[in-house]
Amino acid sequence: MVNDSRLKVVIVGGGTAGWMTAAALVKLLPTRCQVHLVESETIGIVGVGEATLPHIRAFNDKLGIDEADFMATTRATFKLGIEFRDWGQIGDNYIHPFGTFGSGQGELDFHQYWNRARLESHGVNPLGDFSMAVTMAYMNRFVLPDPDPARIESTFNYAYQFDATSYAPYLRRIAEQLGAKRTEGRIVDVDLDGETGDVRSVRLESGERIEGDLFVDCSGFFSLIMGKTLGEPFEDWTQWLPCDRAVAMPCRTRTALSPYTSAIAMPAGWRWRIPLQHRTGNGYVYSSQFTSDEDAASALFAAVEGEPIAEPRVLKFKAGRRTRSWVRNCIAVGLSSGFLEPLESTSIYLIQAAITGLVELFPQGEISPLDRDEFNRLIDLEYDRIRDFLILHYHATSRDDTPFWDYVRTMPVPDTLEEKMELFRRRGRIVKYREGVFLDASWIAVYIGQGVLPEGYDMRAGIVPQAALTEAMNTLRNRIRMAAEAMPEHRHHIEHYCPMPDAA
Ligand SMILES: Cc1cc2nc3c(=O)[nH]c(=O)nc-3n(C[C@H](O)[C@H](O)[C@H](O)COP(=O)(O)OP(=O)(O)OC[C@H]3O[C@@H](n4cnc5c(N)ncnc54)[C@H](O)[C@@H]3O)c2cc1C
Repeated sequence: MVNDSRLKVVIVGGGTAGWMTAAALVKLLPTRCQVHLVESETIGIVGVGEATLPHIRAFNDKLGIDEADFMATTRATFKLGIEFRDWGQIGDNYIHPFGTFGSGQGELDFHQYWNRARLESHGVNPLGDFSMAVTMAYMNRFVLPDPDPARIESTFNYAYQFDATSYAPYLRRIAEQLGAKRTEGRIVDVDLDGETGDVRSVRLESGERIEGDLFVDCSGFFSLIMGKTLGEPFEDWTQWLPCDRAVAMPCRTRTALSPYTSAIAMPAGWRWRIPLQHRTGNGYVYSSQFTSDEDAASALFAAVEGEPIAEPRVLKFKAGRRTRSWVRNCIAVGLSSGFLEPLESTSIYLIQAAITGLVELFPQGEISPLDRDEFNRLIDLEYDRIRDFLILHYHATSRDDTPFWDYVRTMPVPDTLEEKMELFRRRGRIVKYREGVFLDASWIAVYIGQGVLPEGYDMRAGIVPQAALTEAMNTLRNRIRMAAEAMPEHRHHIEHYCPMPDAA
């Protein structure tokens, strides 16, 4: 039954952000809103964004998506974490895993015991040897996590690597089946209410006018309503995150199908490598202050492992965010609200965070300034914490081999990050979050992986006698190794669970 009191939500843009928003609203708030999405095929979508974080699984679950069907359609692979090569120093290699270090049991974080062993004995195995996800990743193994929390096979989490151009169409089918309306066309004007300044309608090239109560700006880097019409300022973070371009070029997969994304440091930035079922995504994220487009494209071309299957494509961006993401009756979701480089695959997560905030604070009639402020607080928090986490990767380096690495190593960093690093250096303490994306294991992986090593440890780690600690650590490492060895190869698991339609 149609309820006339439903708010009319107009979504501007049909990329990943637009269709994620549309699908979530029609599925989760069917009695509160009607959804009308406008997109322009002529303008198109940004078409990159292949690596995700585990949170996407909860989003898909809420929409009732069948995982195997979704993975087959989007030609997805499993992702256990991100491998960082050459970041601390050339030759370094570590994985930021999805999951815990240690068995996940006990009150004290495992890295404190590892830390004590490192400080008090001669040689300790790399921290990654005590992570199920890292061990599986290096051995190219995968199965779904065991639901029994007592088992070591339950201590990892996973995300997906998928074809960026097929997620939005997949969600579009779901959203349209649930009643979302779609109009094809280019928006040429946005009308504001003369008195309140609220957005009243968008006007298409065809002359059609689409009115709404609430507007979600998913227009990508254009930021059509939030940036261009409402003029919300953009906070530029280039001083800490100087990369402002990427050159992308997919290739055929020549090597084993690794269950992780790689981020390989380059002379003026870093390069991603994302294995999908049908190809490998590659791109070099770089700073235009330190290299040219031509040199970046040549460096990428020389580095990719398989035969290229498309011409290199350059994308331009700027790190930062809009001061507010909800202004008047417009909410910016996706690239229109800000951009943080894909080093930790956070953009789709940020879309999801904005949608969650919108669903939770969806207006009951009039928009409450309190709800709007709370939404903006949550989004700011997400952006600011991810920003600090990304800066850490650049700043915690001892590389001085190029002007780019010299700059990021010596640049002043935000006070919030300086304090976190100092706390970790003292006794390996991690600043705990109640909200936000990267929890303890993520920070621990990057700190230790890049050589930020604590000078002491939590005193509780000192209670166990040293011999017992050594034995417990050896037992744990062997348990993890044996569990991984018993798992199928990643490719094998995909072939049985979610092969792409034309795989045979
Ligand atoms: C180099 C690079 C690598 C990335 N890698 C990752 C990654 O690994 N993981 C990750 O999570 N994210 C990644 N991202 C980010 C990710 O691509 C985006 O967050 C995601 O695709 C969402 O984009 P969007 O929907 O906001 O914008 P877009 O895809 O650009 O969509 C914008 C929409 O607005 C429409 N539009 C614009 N103007 C108009 C108009 N005037 N009239 C009508 N319609 C209009 C367009 O047609 C389109 O439908 C990456 C981004 C870049 C640049």
